[in-house]
Amino acid sequence: TDQSKIRNFSIIAHIDHGKSTLSDRLIEQCHAVTERQMESQLLDNMDLEKERGITIKARAVRLEYQAQDGETYHLNLIDTPGHVDFNYEVSRSLAACEGAVLVVDSTQGVEAQTLANTYLALEHDLEILPVFNKIDLPAANPQKAKEEVEAIIGLPAMEAPEISAKMGVNIPAVLEDIVQNVPAPTGDPNAPLKALVFDSQYDPYVGVIVYFRVMEGTLKKGMNVKMMASGASYQVLDCGYLRPLGMDSCPELTAGEVGWFTASIKNVKDTRVGDTITGVESPAAEALPGYRPAQAMVYCGIYTQDGSKYPDLRDALEKLQLNDASLSFEPESSIALGFGFRCGFLGMLHMEIIQERLEREFDLDLVTTLPSVIYEVDKTDGTTVKVDNPHNYPDPGLITEAREPYAKVSIIAPPDYVGNIMPMCQDRRGIFKDMQYLDTNLVELHYSMPLGEIIYDFFDALKARTKGYASLDYELEGYQPSQLVKVDLLLNGDQVDALSFIAHKDKAYGRARKICEKLKENIPRQLFEVPIQAAIGGKIIARETVKAMRKDVLAKCYGGDITRKKKLLEKQKEGKKKMRSLGTVQMPTEAFMAVLKLD
Ligand code: GDP
Ligand code: MG
Repeated sequence: TDQSKIRNFSIIAHIDHGKSTLSDRLIEQCHAVTERQMESQLLDNMDLEKERGITIKARAVRLEYQAQDGETYHLNLIDTPGHVDFNYEVSRSLAACEGAVLVVDSTQGVEAQTLANTYLALEHDLEILPVFNKIDLPAANPQKAKEEVEAIIGLPAMEAPEISAKMGVNIPAVLEDIVQNVPAPTGDPNAPLKALVFDSQYDPYVGVIVYFRVMEGTLKKGMNVKMMASGASYQVLDCGYLRPLGMDSCPELTAGEVGWFTASIKNVKDTRVGDTITGVESPAAEALPGYRPAQAMVYCGIYTQDGSKYPDLRDALEKLQLNDASLSFEPESSIALGFGFRCGFLGMLHMEIIQERLEREFDLDLVTTLPSVIYEVDKTDGTTVKVDNPHNYPDPGLITEAREPYAKVSIIAPPDYVGNIMPMCQDRRGIFKDMQYLDTNLVELHYSMPLGEIIYDFFDALKARTKGYASLDYELEGYQPSQLVKVDLLLNGDQVDALSFIAHKDKAYGRARKICEKLKENIPRQLFEVPIQAAIGGKIIARETVKAMRKDVLAKCYGGDITRKKKLLEKQKEGKKKMRSLGTVQMPTEAFMAVLKLD
């Protein structure tokens, strides 16, 4: 294809401003699908994504648009995920584009993620085209929204299209804007191949489908290609363009184009997002910038409620991993929970998504342990161990130094919220670095913060304290020495391995007490008194007691037959409930899970 007729762009927006609706309209307008085929919001194609209203995996489509100048243009629309856990994927998708359409809801104006996403796009030098949506609503004030965009973001906006994505009003104006203002790609089609992987997907029939943008050179069917970071090489079996429904084959893709290739690749691990595809014959001298290996940030143990389902869990994890290179897992076992896996995730949302998919798509009932980061411990014998499971944390007497991961945190918010944000960061042991005004309406704060303090609910707490206006980004910075302790939980004197956790010494007591209280609430009375204790080393730091069952409760129930029947039925139900033996203590699995749930 003639480079001057290609436009590569993505759509960015604050949540609910109409990104998905506009994507659908653009696809429809280009007659890429008939109305009957037009399932709503084609680009968000996982059920979970629809429910949660987020886009997890980036996808792309190529649209053919006949412009007013009479020429046909190829518009590649690259969709981006919308959560901090997937920021790296977003950055690679944006790196594949020359422009971004910024959707602004005319009833709301500029909001938090309008800004955050704009900054991401500006970092990649994209041409940003504002579009003012929802003009069909009586409350719409596109003029005011335009003024906000000019004042806050500094983009010219007065001439920008005013549209209704929902009603299909003025959609061609958006397409014309893209054709006229997004720069055409450049890049020498005859140079050695350099193509950026921005997504990949496992398909049971053809293996991994790799989505890429050719930056330089040409990718041809039959060619031998090499992934520069992973080192894997393949012969391209098939390649082509992305269509809203399915894929079109073509013999080659040249500089500026966006497409896919297949090569019977068995695992997405070898085709990582951000990797550079080059030719084996005449390889590029250096890879494209910005590659970062996927890095698990959060770990937890995943077990099945029914121990015999362990092989099913392994199969399910393997299947999910085919499509998700950032999911890692290794077998582990627990006295309390049996056989399971220690799994690594990009963040808490990623973890929740995987847990939900295991339960829904694979019909598994799971028990999961408290999430944890990876700690580093120097031991007195001169060795260093990495600990991703609190149970394996060395005894205090064997430790010379313990370190925890820190992240470089950037928070962008309007200045009014700084007073809410700073105490939150301090409370989470954040070390203030600096604060910069990006604009009179916007500040950026930098902190160095323990990753363990970020992963739980920092993102949600931050949103709550800033009415959603703050955006968060973080990346791993390195390890810092820390005063860590491992807290063990004992039931009737027996340690329950699955409940151990590692915490900073100042936070250990509070958390220990909370877990003891939760255990007390959830453990049913036994025939004997059950002490619940939390201990550091051998020292008890918190204690609760579950009183023993009273004898008369056991003895009675021989009264009227109605109550007796009820009791019997209840007993039967009780018997069906799965009990878990924690040492000498019997506890329903559900109660155990309630304790493991964070709040
Ligand atoms: P996204 O979160 O940015 O992808 O937003 P969606 O495209 O999912 O839209 C969020 C909500 O706004 C949905 O209920 C849409 O139907 C609605 N919406 C989108 N565009 C318009 C519009 O032009 N007018 C009106 N009235 N509603 C719209
Ligand atoms: Mg959406």
